[in-house]
Amino acid sequence: MTRYTFKCKDIGNQDCSYEINVGTRNEIFSNVRMHAKYAHGFYDFTDELKEKVDKVVKEVD
Ligand SMILES: [Zn+2]
Repeated sequence: MTRYTFKCKDIGNQDCSYEINVGTRNEIFSNVRMHAKYAHGFYDFTDELKEKVDKVVKEVD
């Protein structure tokens, strides 16, 4: 079953160790949205940010 992983480092937050491994791409977005808000103060999860995240999400079989 495919898993989706995301590392905050991959979108340029080198000091952040946040990473997740979830079952759907949508879960990535909902989790990263919360993380971006509380950890980095991004209150708007913009399309630009979403695209950035989308590009670095890795699919793992
Ligand atoms: Zn982060």
